[in-house]
Amino acid sequence: MQERQVDIAIIGAGVVGLATALSLAPTGLQIALFDAQPKPSAGPQGTALNDWDRRVTALTPESIRFLKSLAAWSLIEESKRGGAYTDMLVWDSEGTGQIHFTATDLNIESLGTIVESSLTTQALISATEAAPNLSIHWGTRLESMDIEAESVRFTTSSGDTVIADMTIGADGGRSKSRELAGMRTREWRYGQNAIVATVRVEPHHSHACWQAFLPTGPLALLPLANDDLCSIVWSLDDALSDHWIQADHAAFVAGLNRALSGRGPQVLEVSDRQMFPLIQCHAVDYSRGRFVLVGDAAHSIHPLAGQGINLGLSDAQTLGNEIVWAHQRGADWCSSQVFSRYERQRKGDNLSMMATMQAFKWGFGSKNPAITLMRNIGLNSVDALPMAKRWFVQQAVGAK
Ligand SMILES: Cc1cc2nc3c(=O)[nH]c(=O)nc-3n(C[C@H](O)[C@H](O)[C@H](O)COP(=O)(O)OP(=O)(O)OC[C@H]3O[C@@H](n4cnc5c(N)ncnc54)[C@H](O)[C@@H]3O)c2cc1C
Repeated sequence: MQERQVDIAIIGAGVVGLATALSLAPTGLQIALFDAQPKPSAGPQGTALNDWDRRVTALTPESIRFLKSLAAWSLIEESKRGGAYTDMLVWDSEGTGQIHFTATDLNIESLGTIVESSLTTQALISATEAAPNLSIHWGTRLESMDIEAESVRFTTSSGDTVIADMTIGADGGRSKSRELAGMRTREWRYGQNAIVATVRVEPHHSHACWQAFLPTGPLALLPLANDDLCSIVWSLDDALSDHWIQADHAAFVAGLNRALSGRGPQVLEVSDRQMFPLIQCHAVDYSRGRFVLVGDAAHSIHPLAGQGINLGLSDAQTLGNEIVWAHQRGADWCSSQVFSRYERQRKGDNLSMMATMQAFKWGFGSKNPAITLMRNIGLNSVDALPMAKRWFVQQAVGAK
């Protein structure tokens, strides 16, 4: 059992915790990350259906620029496993409404890149291991925490006590650090789960994301680097998700094709499936004393717009910028002013994304004919109005 002192401790070495550590590296401060899980392995990296991580994220051009600045993009690029997409087709399965976004609407090369979550994590781990002032303690769970006037003191599952000038909670949607800090949240369960899997499709996915809004929840088909492979995220009410997670492969493929109703490519084959509960949760405040939240620990949202990681990376970048700036000026870099500036910049974006997801969930979950008509008119109007369409694409790619 040891007592150790660090400048900054980060609880959670997921994508957001790692990106936050890297964004703080230029300060030269001693930064230690603690993660409950053992160090993740790179995974099979083959091309068979089960060799792809079922969990992928749609990284926006803005997030990619940030990862490049952290020296964490080259590994993803070299792996040739990222699927850049140029088009996004969204339609209402109950009506005629549809929108087709293209990268040319914004004069950009692609709307984003679909990357396996494990690959993004590996790229960030390599960059973190290369930084002399960053260390990661795998298999080390946060157990207890006290926020003191000038520091945060916590204990871990290895029996050590850590005293940090400041501590960042990046331990995901069910954040233990947030709970131990006694921070209040506004939380609502959607009563839905997301089933994720890799599928083989025909014809070629055309580098497009396909998203069907079904009354039971949205279904997204996301293009992977191989032309005939997509990742699916199918959000379903509890009872239905239980049914589809247990269905045999042939029945599941048939169910997917029925849900896509011939508007996307046809699904031929599916990998093993995984299921995640969907919870929307937002911390009322992002900091308490010298403790501050980032990523899903501060806000977890419905994956229908694929924005969770992108919001978390923006948190990491904003908090990093504020602390580095204060540190460079010789100011108190863990003061409440620094954290308030961070919270002011991030809360609006995070809240508006959550409200939009809630509105989509409500609007598309309704079978009321008047609402069906309104959303079809809405989708078709946006599709016909270049200015409105441009605004929507800007939101989707994280451009300001
Ligand atoms: C089905 C699904 C699909 C999604 N698709 C997308 C998408 O397309 N695009 C997108 O942007 N987002 C997507 N998301 C959201 C995205 O996955 C999350 O926003 C993202 O993983 C959050 O990252 P994070 O680092 O904040 O938290 P996490 O990834 O949850 O990482 C938290 C880390 O903290 C560690 N930890 C937990 N408790 C402790 C403890 N007590 N002590 C120490 N360590 C601890 C965990 O081991 C973990 O490594 C999706 C989410 C789901 C469920």
